[in-house]
Amino acid sequence: MQVKLLSYTQNPKAVIYACARQCYSKLSAYNIYVKKEKLSKRFKEFIAHLIERGHLSPLEHVSFTFSIEGISRICTHQLVRHRIASYSQQSQRYVDMENFNYIIPPTIKKNKEAKKVFLEVITIIREKYRELKEILGKEKTLDREKLNQDLRFILPQAVETKIVVTMNCRELLHFFSERLCLRAQWEIRALAYKMFSLCKRILPEVFSFAGPKCKRMGFCPEKAFDCPLFPDKLDKKK
Ligand SMILES: Cc1cc2nc3c(=O)[nH]c(=O)nc-3n(C[C@H](O)[C@H](O)[C@H](O)COP(=O)(O)OP(=O)(O)OC[C@H]3O[C@@H](n4cnc5c(N)ncnc54)[C@H](O)[C@@H]3O)c2cc1C
Repeated sequence: MQVKLLSYTQNPKAVIYACARQCYSKLSAYNIYVKKEKLSKRFKEFIAHLIERGHLSPLEHVSFTFSIEGISRICTHQLVRHRIASYSQQSQRYVDMENFNYIIPPTIKKNKEAKKVFLEVITIIREKYRELKEILGKEKTLDREKLNQDLRFILPQAVETKIVVTMNCRELLHFFSERLCLRAQWEIRALAYKMFSLCKRILPEVFSFAGPKCKRMGFCPEKAFDCPLFPDKLDKKK
């Protein structure tokens, strides 16, 4: 999995600060922004205060855009459920999926027998994809897009895909609270962790508040006895 930062809002700290301060000031956000107040030392405190009060809209004015590749459609299906974001995904209609790449889950990868079965299935799907392509390719009414859009029905969920996602800081904090959970599915968790690491490098004051939601709540909302952080003691007695 490769996750690269394509872009992010310029001067993110100054933008968040100006947007938040303007709410309580006679000055416009622009005037506060151009004054370039020195805020580096107190910025983390300032963010903590906003988060504590639930005054989160200033965080929405700064966003991050990621280019993601080497992940499965299973992972992107979970990712795109997060609605306060923008996505652009590689099409299986315009891009030929013959000889598609795929993602192998670690449990299957490390088990020789399981890996063999997995790879057999991939080989069969690739063969049948080509076979179907040849059969349907003879139909004059089907152009390449029409052909691809139906051929993709036999692709596995493990198929590799590429996607661009843009999220603002508020949504990123929410996304991390759900997907950095130690019990989250391994691939979306790995993706969330890579995105989190990039964000934290740019804006540590904001993303030091990121983490699985149990850390904020002080218990595992899934009431899981196997939660490494907050195991549910009642459940363990069952
Ligand atoms: C542990 C776990 C298990 C899951 N299991 C399943 C499952 O079995 N089946 C399944 O279908 N999905 C499942 N999901 C996906 C889940 O239901 C959400 O679709 C996904 O987490 C997106 O997050 P969200 O809705 O909180 O927030 P986002 O879409 O990221 O939006 C952020 C926030 O904006 C607000 N918001 C956004 N849109 C609306 C709206 N229309 N109305 C009101 N408020 C809104 C909410 O406060 C929301 O929390 C699971 C998620 C997790 C974390």
